Amino acid sequence: MRTEIMGVGFDDLTLDEAASAAAGMIDAGGFHYVVTPNPELVDRARREEPFRQALNGADLVLPDGIGVVYAAKILGRSLKGRCPGIDFAGKLMEHMAKTGLRLYLLGAKPGVAEAAAARLEARYPGLTICGTHDGYFKEDAPVVEAIRAAEADVVFVCLGAPKQEYWMVKNGPATGARLMAGLGGSLDVFAGVVERAPESWQKLGLEWLYRLKKEPKRIGRMARLPLFLVAALGERGKAGKRA
Ligand code: UDP
Repeated sequence: MRTEIMGVGFDDLTLDEAASAAAGMIDAGGFHYVVTPNPELVDRARREEPFRQALNGADLVLPDGIGVVYAAKILGRSLKGRCPGIDFAGKLMEHMAKTGLRLYLLGAKPGVAEAAAARLEARYPGLTICGTHDGYFKEDAPVVEAIRAAEADVVFVCLGAPKQEYWMVKNGPATGARLMAGLGGSLDVFAGVVERAPESWQKLGLEWLYRLKKEPKRIGRMARLPLFLVAALGERGKAGKRA
């Protein structure tokens, strides 16, 4: 059963539970994909039906931002906590390093995925990165073919939202991969191009504020967060009246 937040159904899992669910999907075979919406994306899904379908059609829907957890609280629903895509990726790579699964990195500016690959192989001994591709390509077919030829089991799709979600839905099955995860700017962090908030900020749920400090141009995107919480309050009000 999923926890519904403003039209998007979230899986209520801890990070460890999410990683083992993903491992089970890889073992099961067939194609699966994972999305990690933050409030900005949930808000977008309210206005863009095909995007809402792409999110809800995923095999795992993890709450990336603290704002989603706040919205759940406002709506009186349960979510164990934040499950940031980048931390989910870390847990999954630990599992992949142990089991010999093959990882492909797709996205970010030219050179970034290669740099990320080198750093990740050093950080997770035994991890096999079977290929990389930047995220600024015009045609999908050669990229699909490259992933297929690399015999990837898992692909981190880091093209930014909503491009990455649509890309996984459209092209995922043809690549032969068993699991894809849409992970936004994670390759920039793995490559060391962008710095993540210190752990103390993350624990306080202030990762968004740190990001804003580093990239002030995000203010317009982030300004939607309070509006999103106000909308959650409105939805609670409606539900209260119906009850
Ligand atoms: N990106 C890409 N192809 C595109 C547009 C964006 O590979 O056509 C990459 C971009 O270089 C960055 C990531 O997608 O690495 C998006 O990062 P952002 O921080 O905006 O995403 P978020 O995590 O906020 O979804």
